[in-house]
Amino acid sequence: MTVPDRGFEPERRTRALVEALPYIKRFRGATVVIKFGGNAMVDAALAESFAEDVVLLRSVGMKPVVVHGGGPQIGTLLERLGKQTEFRDGLRVTDSETLDVARMVLVGKVGRDIVGSINVHGAYAVGLSGEDGGLIRAKERDPDLGFVGDVVEVRPGIVERLLAEEMIPVVSTIGADDSGQAYNINADTVAGALAGALQAEKAVYLTDVPGLLLDVDDPGSIVARSTVADIRALVGDGTITGGMIPKVEACIEAVEAGARTAHMLDGRVPHVLLLELFTDAGIGTMITSEPV
Ligand code: ADP
Ligand code: MG
Repeated sequence: MTVPDRGFEPERRTRALVEALPYIKRFRGATVVIKFGGNAMVDAALAESFAEDVVLLRSVGMKPVVVHGGGPQIGTLLERLGKQTEFRDGLRVTDSETLDVARMVLVGKVGRDIVGSINVHGAYAVGLSGEDGGLIRAKERDPDLGFVGDVVEVRPGIVERLLAEEMIPVVSTIGADDSGQAYNINADTVAGALAGALQAEKAVYLTDVPGLLLDVDDPGSIVARSTVADIRALVGDGTITGGMIPKVEACIEAVEAGARTAHMLDGRVPHVLLLELFTDAGIGTMITSEPV
């Protein structure tokens, strides 16, 4: 005889759905730009749960846009090819061979994998490079760094057209200048600029820490809410360092350009996007332009 499990599970499950209802209503039609990176991207199970979340957002009428990184994957291929590269201030000096590898890995591998994992659920995702449709106009950051680019302008038309067709754009962050020269650009930076250009409801950064921390070694020191002014102070006093700097700068750019909020979430937590968007649980760090 099979005894069905009639514990508290059904009640908890229905409660979770009911709790989601006001959020689903509120976010209908809202654009959410999601930067996917870090550990979440290299762990197969987490990559699958990320794809499910993105498809769920679309299914309840939201407009998710994925922007992805891929530094570690670029490093791995360069190593396999026996190509030596050098870092300056955390940025890889990028000669034209290194740029070719970066572009192949981001557009041809990492972007493809994300599109593939989303499209297991239906024909939704379309991958694009920032070169496509003139999406990301770039310029050289510093001649000593080679083809490392800064964003000059985001022209979101191609992304808006895909969203209007209910597609899920997946953006690899290679940009081009007016002569057609390609540049590799930090994905955090692109996600912030794109969220601003799209006037997104949210810019969401999935990373490998619980959020913005006052002490990087203490997960309990997480900052639940922060403003542009708070963050500038934390960069100034050295609390924010390394890869967190382009991330918070991108969050500032997004909210100052008109995205409503920016969020940093722990990409190592399965379905963290759903927790942030559809539950009352405060999770990660929320950044706004002014105190709320
Ligand atoms: P991602 O793949 O998400 O871009 P990064 O390594 O570029 O990852 O940036 C996240 C890292 O920033 C964290 O793993 C952490 O080591 C570092 N970091 C520096 N300062 C802070 C801070 N104040 N709070 C949280 N993380 C920080
Ligand atoms: Mg980073």
